[in-house]
Amino acid sequence: MLMTDIIANKRNREELTNKEIDFFINGVTNGSLPDYQISALLMAIYLNGLSPRETVDLTLAMAKSGDMLDLSSLGDKTVDKHSTGGVGDKTTLICAPIAAALGCKVAKMSGRGLGHTGGTVDKLEAIDGYKTSITAEEMLEVTKKHGLCLVGHSGNFAPADKRLYAIRDVTATVESIPLIASSIMSKKLAAGAKNILLDVKFGSGAFMKSAEEAETLARKMVEIGNNAGRKTAAVITDMDIPLGRYIGNTLEIKEALEILKCNGDQRLRELCIALAAKMHSLCFDCDIKESEELSIKALENGSAFEKLCESAEALGGDVRLLRGEKEFPEAEANLKIFAKEDGYVSAINSELIGKAAVLSGAGRETINEKIDLTAGIYLNKQYGEPVTKGDTLATVFGKKEKLTLAAELLEKAYIVSKEKPKSRPLIYKTVNEV
Ligand code: URA
Repeated sequence: MLMTDIIANKRNREELTNKEIDFFINGVTNGSLPDYQISALLMAIYLNGLSPRETVDLTLAMAKSGDMLDLSSLGDKTVDKHSTGGVGDKTTLICAPIAAALGCKVAKMSGRGLGHTGGTVDKLEAIDGYKTSITAEEMLEVTKKHGLCLVGHSGNFAPADKRLYAIRDVTATVESIPLIASSIMSKKLAAGAKNILLDVKFGSGAFMKSAEEAETLARKMVEIGNNAGRKTAAVITDMDIPLGRYIGNTLEIKEALEILKCNGDQRLRELCIALAAKMHSLCFDCDIKESEELSIKALENGSAFEKLCESAEALGGDVRLLRGEKEFPEAEANLKIFAKEDGYVSAINSELIGKAAVLSGAGRETINEKIDLTAGIYLNKQYGEPVTKGDTLATVFGKKEKLTLAAELLEKAYIVSKEKPKSRPLIYKTVNEV
């Protein structure tokens, strides 16, 4: 088979065969194909698209290009959850323990933050002693025993995607729905869960800027998952404003604990209940209303909080921090920004807030940068809230020398207007499994 023929076929809008797609992905993985031929095919795909069958074949080939986690010994209630990335998105830390408390098996590998979006692994590392890097055997053991294991990626998952993504990044071929969907879903399929819930975000802090684009991506990923034999559903959610009030690693762990202890931001709680309920209904084939009631109960009776403590302890985490018996370390300094006029908070640009968090030291711009776990932002005023001139709008935490630049961006992120803004629905739509 010749790579030039495969490129020409896609250039001529022909459907690639399963064998052609396998040839391509093998060549990407074993290094036999040069970057320029890979780039040419990626551009042809970007311009001419992929059929549903081609998209599934590409995803499966990428999933099989490296390790595949075998969770079959945990039964059929295994569930994974994936967010396309947001600002202040600590939902995994809340919905996963709720789902585990309801009998789901959540063995989840998460990523680190990059750019303006945060990553669950960095947040977990704010719990002193918590091991985020463990073997597949340890992961199975912790999940079998506690129903919950939140860790980082170990092993070589979807290496073809790693190479393809790096090439897409420098060839203007990232923004292609079939390429994004196959990239995300290849990693989810390799992670082994029978049930998959996707939280596809849209708005200023998200990859997809409009709800319609997010829906197209969600439908494509749900189609891939279901065609690959995994029960897959998606919720499409608003990321135009940050989720909750805290952004930053230790700060987000604290906020997750507030929700698990039945306090905290109601919008964040609402989303976590919806996500946990959908994870539960996927696993147990339940009516969503029933799953919602069970999820609320698991929060209110403390069983979700206990699940997180149990699992964190098994992974070496200092649970005294979670139980409030010991204080989390605090940032060296903080700086506030203030309202310059009376009115209502009518916009908080998530992307700018995410960038301000990076400047505070809470995130990284390159993959190996060291982060300050105590750094981040507290939104004293959230979207829609009334403010009086001189009120604190937000506070940035971190090392003293980092705060001024971060605060300047925070100022740009906030808009205060005379008119009370419309309330923003959090969940735009759910795309159900088939
Ligand atoms: N996230 C991924 O993992 N892949 C993409 O292509 C885009 C976002």
